[in-house]
Amino acid sequence: MGLVGGEEGVQEAAAGREERILVSVRLRPLNDKEISRHDVCDWECINDTTVVSRNNNNLSASERSLYPTSYTFDRVFRPDCPTRQVYETAAKEVALSVLKGINSSIFAYGQTSSGKTYTMSGVTEYAVADIFNHIEKEKEEREFVLKFSALEIYNESVRDLLTADTTPLRLLDDPERGTVVEKLTEATLRDWNHFKELLSFCEAQRKIGETSLNEASSRSHQILKLTVESCPCDFLVIDRSSSLAASVNFIDLAGSERASQTHAAGARLKEGSHINRSLLTLGTCIRKLSKGGKGGHIPFRDSKLTRILQSSLGGNAKTAIICTMSPARSHAEQTRNTLLFASCAR
Ligand code: ADP
Ligand code: MG
Repeated sequence: MGLVGGEEGVQEAAAGREERILVSVRLRPLNDKEISRHDVCDWECINDTTVVSRNNNNLSASERSLYPTSYTFDRVFRPDCPTRQVYETAAKEVALSVLKGINSSIFAYGQTSSGKTYTMSGVTEYAVADIFNHIEKEKEEREFVLKFSALEIYNESVRDLLTADTTPLRLLDDPERGTVVEKLTEATLRDWNHFKELLSFCEAQRKIGETSLNEASSRSHQILKLTVESCPCDFLVIDRSSSLAASVNFIDLAGSERASQTHAAGARLKEGSHINRSLLTLGTCIRKLSKGGKGGHIPFRDSKLTRILQSSLGGNAKTAIICTMSPARSHAEQTRNTLLFASCAR
């Protein structure tokens, strides 16, 4: 049976497997700016799962106990690793679970300029291409409808990236569907080229925002959502359990420097506009979810990002987090915060 086995998908979804969040870390190469100021690489992947710091000498003893030299994750990726490999190992399975009727989310987390957008845009394209390929193979047996939406959250304000209209959108609580974004455009995808057209439109919309609002991309979250609905072509087999619907979310998060105050243990939580409420709440939710939801109440409702993603985070939904980091010594403090976040998510 193929990936889109109707019954198989439903049973798996109903089983509600408690799975950990898949957490990986990707190091990027030093960039030209870092090289020109003679920055050095502090971090190294010593195998497929462990990243180590080559420079903890500048830390005090108490800092050294707070910041280990070595961190282990599900996977770590060296600076020369191509995005396709990152996708195959860190995101593919989670993304393709949408074909089995299971919701999923794939996040890029890291400080500004660490490679979130570079990683997430590649991962999104590989995943959607794979989904199109699987559908092509299954099309004799099942009928598919693919829907696509895109939004940005900036300062707790939600905007549609599939229209030129920048009016903030409201969130509504629907008794059946949970939180929905009112009036959000949902495009029915005709084919791969249509998807690529919509992606470039989103990118242009995001850029327009950036020129009017300084630093917008480092402060905003982008969610691209693909919904896959399918049912058997043979009308005689149609019953509720054989039709499937699920969504996969690709999330390019705001720069993690917007949340670092919470991770720096002992440091007083600073109030201010530079702290991003959605990013902080996401951190809290992820930490609680990684404990199998046993950490008590999960505050999904405390931010727009977590409200919108709630149905794709808890329950039997699948989650992958790719943490991106610069290997440069000058970024060591933010990088350690990213690694602590990643450790807590696991
Ligand atoms: P972020 O979205 O986290 O702010 P970007 O994805 O925009 O960061 O990356 C910053 C710069 O670094 C871009 O020019 C990007 O092309 C480059 N870059 C990021 N990750 C990699 C990588 N793994 N390999 C090569 N270049 C990268
Ligand atoms: Mg970016």
